[in-house]
Amino acid sequence: MERIELFREALKERVCGICFDRNDDGTCGLPKDQTCALEAHLPEILKAVESIHSVDLSPYVDAIRSEVCPNCSQDAEGRCVFRESFDCSVDNFLYLVVETIEDVKKKEDGLARGPGNG
Ligand code: SF4
Ligand code: SF4
Repeated sequence: MERIELFREALKERVCGICFDRNDDGTCGLPKDQTCALEAHLPEILKAVESIHSVDLSPYVDAIRSEVCPNCSQDAEGRCVFRESFDCSVDNFLYLVVETIEDVKKKEDGLARGPGNG
């Protein structure tokens, strides 16, 4: 399995699991012409989160807004209609997104060290 898929699966379980736009069958309930930023920009989101090591959420917010949002729906003034209407899951659940990514990374590190080495 590609590395990114580990993150995609974990995020689907934890973030989609509490998302207001999730269907009862677990699929995404967004309209067909709309793609969740978590899905559409996962590589950039992962890169932005991995570049930060902080217990504070603000640097993660800044990293997403400077490295992900300009290639997503944010306009030249730095505004995003989805964020402003609380319709962006990345923004709504950023704490959980960061926590989930960190948890997958911890598992990766544990596997790399192997049993009894850490
Ligand atoms: S909007 Fe995003 S977070 Fe919510 S269910 Fe769809 S893919 Fe998951
Ligand atoms: S806040 Fe807007 S621009 Fe940023 S990730 Fe969400 S939908 Fe995309």
